[in-house]
Amino acid sequence: MKKITRRTFTTSLGKGLVASSLLIPTFSSFSSNKPSADKLGVALVGLGSYSTYQLAPSLLETKHCYLSAIVTGTKEKEQIWKEKYGLSRDCMYNYENFDSIINNPKIDVVYVVLPNSMHADFCIRAARAGKHVICEKPMAMSVVECDTIIKACKDNKVKLSVGYRMQSDPYTHEVKKYVREKTFGEVNFVASDAAYISGGNPNQWRLNKALSGGGALMNMGVYSIQTSIYGVGQNPTSVSAQEFSTRPEYFKDTDETITAQFEFPSGEIGQMMTSHNANGNRLKVHCNKGWFELDPAHSYGPISGRTSKGAEIKFPHKRQQALQMDDFAKHILLGTKNVAPGEMGKRDMIIVEAIYQSIAQNGKKQQLDLGTLGIVS
Ligand code: NAD
Repeated sequence: MKKITRRTFTTSLGKGLVASSLLIPTFSSFSSNKPSADKLGVALVGLGSYSTYQLAPSLLETKHCYLSAIVTGTKEKEQIWKEKYGLSRDCMYNYENFDSIINNPKIDVVYVVLPNSMHADFCIRAARAGKHVICEKPMAMSVVECDTIIKACKDNKVKLSVGYRMQSDPYTHEVKKYVREKTFGEVNFVASDAAYISGGNPNQWRLNKALSGGGALMNMGVYSIQTSIYGVGQNPTSVSAQEFSTRPEYFKDTDETITAQFEFPSGEIGQMMTSHNANGNRLKVHCNKGWFELDPAHSYGPISGRTSKGAEIKFPHKRQQALQMDDFAKHILLGTKNVAPGEMGKRDMIIVEAIYQSIAQNGKKQQLDLGTLGIVS
């Protein structure tokens, strides 16, 4: 891993500001995908749709990262990515020779963007290779797996973050601010939906429990869990849940629609819905002196919001993934806070497991003892 001190980083940041104003990066250009003293090299592991259409283009818009390597099981992708992003031959890996990244100083961060069942394995191997880790959501298949990832990163003294792009979005910061400053009074009720109608190949990995760990809840439900928590500013103390199935011939192996109700420490109540067979993309927070809402609340943006004061919540649109990767780079380089630490991914997995447990027990309330685990203000 290249050695960057806080001083060289901040000095080159200043120079970079001048230099970057002379560049006009375009989507197809890899001029902004060049190494420099103030940038960390990121290796994308798994070149599926999220890496291809969101993460790699976002890396061209980051200030402190660049795409330095790829890991793919598809040989044909190597040449395409090499040309598009100006990668060198010694920065292309497959799943078998992945561990040899330990010898590549151009890789500072490994970003695991594989089906959920492969997250733990590749995150742990990346940590053992001495690389910082970003693990896509949901963090893993179980709480036990989350613990093994967190431990591997601790043992190898590397930083860990979960691919929770919303944690870097200005709309999320605004929601957290309203809650913290009680702009609309005390929160009484939070409602959150994260759902879409799934179609296409019924054999896709997201509908295969062995690869995904679960259906809508694992895929979209973690967003509803996240927004419910930052909509209240605290972790829930209990959850009760219900599952609905209307297309069992398509959703053979995984959950289709789930609703869940939360209780929070100061008496706030939450209601969430997640589905692979309905649309929903909303956070609404009712307080004793008004309300605020985001709709859409979880998509790649632009996010849109409004309040009971008749005001629009509006920020310039930036790629959330670029903001997210820059936040993590600054955490590594400058020691700023980790906005989506491993403990946050683990906390959400505890809630996911409690929701499945409640459904298995016909909606029985599950007590949660989370304290402040994963809360980042
Ligand atoms: P995808 O199906 O488009 O890509 C998966 C990649 O994994 C492909 O390159 C595929 O070749 C590879 N792969 C390796 N072994 C595989 C196997 N056994 N079965 C299937 N694919 C295999 O999926 P995606 O949408 O890119 O999702 C990847 C990860 O990113 C998931 O964990 C998903 O939850 C996460 N994701 C996060 C966001 C977000 O907004 N943070 C958005 C989309 C996806």
